[in-house]
Amino acid sequence: MTFNLMPRKITSIALLLLLVPLLVIAQERVDLNVMHKIKAEEFGANSKVMDIVYNLTDRYGPRLTNSPQYRAAGDWAVGQLKEWGLANVHLEKWPTPENNKIPGWQCTYFSANMVEPTYQPLIGVPQAWTAGTNGPVTGDAVLAQVQTPADMDKLHGTLKGKIVLLVPAVELPFPTNPLARRYTDQELADLVPDIIPSGGRGGRGAPVGPGGRGAPNLPPMTPEERQAFTTRMRTFWKDEGVLLTVSANPRGESGTLFGGGAQNRMDTTNLPQVSMTAEHYNRIARLVEHNVPVKLQFDIKTQFDTANTDSFNVVADIPGSTKPDELVMVGGHFDSWHFGTGATDNGIGASVAMEVMRILKTLNLKMDRTVRMGLWGGEEQGLLGSAAYVKDHFADPTVMKPTPEHDKFAGYFNIDNGTGRIRGIYLQGNEMVRPIFEAWFAALKDITNGVVTVRNTGGTDHQSYDAVGLPGFQFIQDPMDYDTRTHHSNMDVYERIQQADMEQMAIIEAVFVYNAATRPEMFPRKEMPEPQPAGGRGGRGGGGRGN
Ligand SMILES: [Zn+2]
Repeated sequence: MTFNLMPRKITSIALLLLLVPLLVIAQERVDLNVMHKIKAEEFGANSKVMDIVYNLTDRYGPRLTNSPQYRAAGDWAVGQLKEWGLANVHLEKWPTPENNKIPGWQCTYFSANMVEPTYQPLIGVPQAWTAGTNGPVTGDAVLAQVQTPADMDKLHGTLKGKIVLLVPAVELPFPTNPLARRYTDQELADLVPDIIPSGGRGGRGAPVGPGGRGAPNLPPMTPEERQAFTTRMRTFWKDEGVLLTVSANPRGESGTLFGGGAQNRMDTTNLPQVSMTAEHYNRIARLVEHNVPVKLQFDIKTQFDTANTDSFNVVADIPGSTKPDELVMVGGHFDSWHFGTGATDNGIGASVAMEVMRILKTLNLKMDRTVRMGLWGGEEQGLLGSAAYVKDHFADPTVMKPTPEHDKFAGYFNIDNGTGRIRGIYLQGNEMVRPIFEAWFAALKDITNGVVTVRNTGGTDHQSYDAVGLPGFQFIQDPMDYDTRTHHSNMDVYERIQQADMEQMAIIEAVFVYNAATRPEMFPRKEMPEPQPAGGRGGRGGGGRGN
C-alpha cells in the first residue's frame, strides 16, 4: 500500500502545480459589458478620433518639437482635455538637454524653381533648423560629393555661389510591390519566435533616419583624422560660400520627399538644405552630368526662437477610485516632423490616446487605478520627452534607483507605427504578461486576432519605460504605406489616416487600459536593468532619432 501511495502523492502534487498557473490564467477577468460599451461608444456616431486628428494635423500641425505650431497644438489639447472633464490636465515642462537643445523653428516661405535651361517648378521642403536664403537667390547647380578629405581639397575654392547637389541621380526601382499593405496571417505568425530570444532589451527596429541616406564609404582613417574630417565637413559647404545644398532619397518619388533636420540645431546660420522629390532632383542631376548649365532659384524664409528651448509633455488623468496612487499610462509622441502635418507620425498615436481618455471618461467607468495620458515631445530627437518624464517620476536610468512612484506603476501602452490597425502586441521580452494579453485579445476576436510576441520593437517611447524596468508596450500595427510613403515625408497628412483603423485602435487601447486599471494585480515585471552610463543610451534611441 505505501508503495502505491507515493506515486499518488506525486501525481496529486504535480496536478496541483499544473493547476496553479491554470487557475491564475482562468482568473484573468474581462468585463464583457464594459467592452461592449467601449465598442458602442467608438463605432457609433460618437467617435471623436478623426476630429482630434483634424485638429492635430490640418488645424495645428505640423508639430515639430518646440515650433510655434507644436506649442499651439499643446494649448489646444489642454483645452480639449479639460472640456472633457479630465483631471490634472497640464503641459509638463522639461528642459531640452544642454548638449541636445531644441529651439523653436519654422519655415514661413519656400519657393524652388529651375530657371535654366527651361522653367520648372520644383517640389522641395527645407530641412528643419536650417537658415533661409535672405531673399531670392539664383545659382548654378553642381554635383559635388564629398567622401574623403581629398575630395574637399579638390573642391576647395570652386563652389562659391553654387547650389550643391549632394548625391548623383538616385536610382528609382520599378515599383512592383503595393504602396500599402496589411500583414498576412503568415507574417504575423512569423513574428512569434519558437523560443524566447536572448537579450531582453534594446533592439531598435531598423533605424530609418535622414542621416542614413547615401552614407559614404569612408576610406580608413585614424580616430583623430575622422574627427577632423567630420568637424570640417560640418561647415564645409558654408565655408566654401555655397548658397544651399539639395538632396533626394530613392524612397521619395512621385512628389513625395523624406527628410530630417540639421544636427546643430541652435546654430541659426546653418546653411539652407533642401530635400527634393527624386524625379525633379534627377532631372537636374542628369542635365548637370551632361554638362548642360542649370540655374536654380530658391527663396526660403525660416525663423528660429533660441530664447525658449524648454519643451513639454501633455498630461491628463482619470483618478483611480480605490488605488489612486497606482498608475496605468497610455500615450505616444506628440511631436512630428514638419514636411507634412504629422498625421501618421504620430498624430495617430496622440489622437488615439486622447480618444481613449475621452471614451473612459465619457462612459464614467470606475477604475481602481489612476489612468494617465502622456503625449511626449522631442521623440524625433531621441525619445527626449518620455525619457525626461520617466527620469522625473520613476527612475534615472544612469542610477536605476526606483522612486516610490516606480513601485506603484502598473504599465504603459504606446502607439506610434502609423495608421495601421492593431494586430497584436510586442511583449518586449516580458513573457510573464503573455497569458494576460492573450486573455484580453481572446475577448476582442471580432476586431483582431491579437498576436502576442515576446519580441522587442524599438524606436519609440515605451522604451523609456522599459529602460528602467517598467512594463511598457507598443502594439503590432499593419504596415500600410508608413515606410513607403508617409514616415517623415511631405505626404504625412490627414488623407493617409484610415478612420476604421483609428477606431479599432481606440477600442483596443481603451480595453487594455481599462483592464490594466481594474485587474487585481499590477503586471509582472522584468528585472530592473543595470544602470546605463550617461550618454551611452545603448540600444534605445541611441541614433538620436525616434520613429
Ligand atoms: Zn513616431
